[in-house]
Amino acid sequence: MKRLSFIISLFIIFLLCGSWGFFAHKKINEYAVYTLPPTLASFYKKNILLISEKAVDADKRCYIDSLEPTRHYIDIDDFDEPTIDSIPIHWSKAKEKYQEKQLLLTGIVPWQISFSYNKLVQAFKDKDIPKIIRFSADLGHYIGDAHVPLHTSSNHDGQLTDQRGIHGFWESRLPELLAEKEWDLLTGTAIYLEDPAAFIWERILESALASDSVLAIEKTLSQSFPADKRYAYEDRNGQLLRQYSSDYARTYDRLMEGMVERRMRSSIWAVACFWYTAWITAGQPALCTIDTPVWTEEDEDELKKLQPAWITGEIQGRSH
Ligand SMILES: [Zn+2]
Repeated sequence: MKRLSFIISLFIIFLLCGSWGFFAHKKINEYAVYTLPPTLASFYKKNILLISEKAVDADKRCYIDSLEPTRHYIDIDDFDEPTIDSIPIHWSKAKEKYQEKQLLLTGIVPWQISFSYNKLVQAFKDKDIPKIIRFSADLGHYIGDAHVPLHTSSNHDGQLTDQRGIHGFWESRLPELLAEKEWDLLTGTAIYLEDPAAFIWERILESALASDSVLAIEKTLSQSFPADKRYAYEDRNGQLLRQYSSDYARTYDRLMEGMVERRMRSSIWAVACFWYTAWITAGQPALCTIDTPVWTEEDEDELKKLQPAWITGEIQGRSH
């Protein structure tokens, strides 16, 4: 019984904080490596396992740092603005227009992407390998989140429309079911971005525009699909769990006409473009002569805290 409760609580925690799902975040960072131009790819290929594994550290940090959750989303519909273009792209200007406290409540993912990008540029300049790996992984995570429509909506888990669970359904269940077997995650080669901040705001706009469809299509499907076939006990990472059934997931995916695959591909390409742009901006430092990363005490400390906190802890702030 205790074991069953433990499994159920793990499942709930995953749904609460698993933005893009751990599976998809790792895949996004992994495939972004394959998308890099050869000049930078060799360094990333050498560290591909670390960069993929650390893609989910940002989510795990939600359990030990109350400042972390706000970095993963932005509730665009909570801004009292006629269009998204009225929200300043740059943090300093946004803080002039709104209270910082308010921004932290509605979420700061687009600005966080700029913060992480700037840190990555500096890490490249310093040729600081542990930091390059850490900030590449984090940047990949936040860019991935920015591509998820429900990360731009205050109705982020369908809690306002009686659709609780849709968040994990869209970004975990569908990729886990379909990504490896049926989706094409290889995208075109990354390019240098002239204006990374403007680029990510365009992706945020796309996400915000798609969020209504994500909710409305599931709502319609839930009303026509047999209720007793919506959930099923199916395998998930070797565990038999009650979750949205494969039939329901596939039907939803078909009705959305491949939206999740498109957003995942777009995430992969964007992540690679950001890494590449950071490296060019830092002056294209030669990295191939540097060997395995040596972690600082601070990195080691955080790693020790992250895993147990994620398994047993609670999110230090709003779930996303
Ligand atoms: Zn996240």
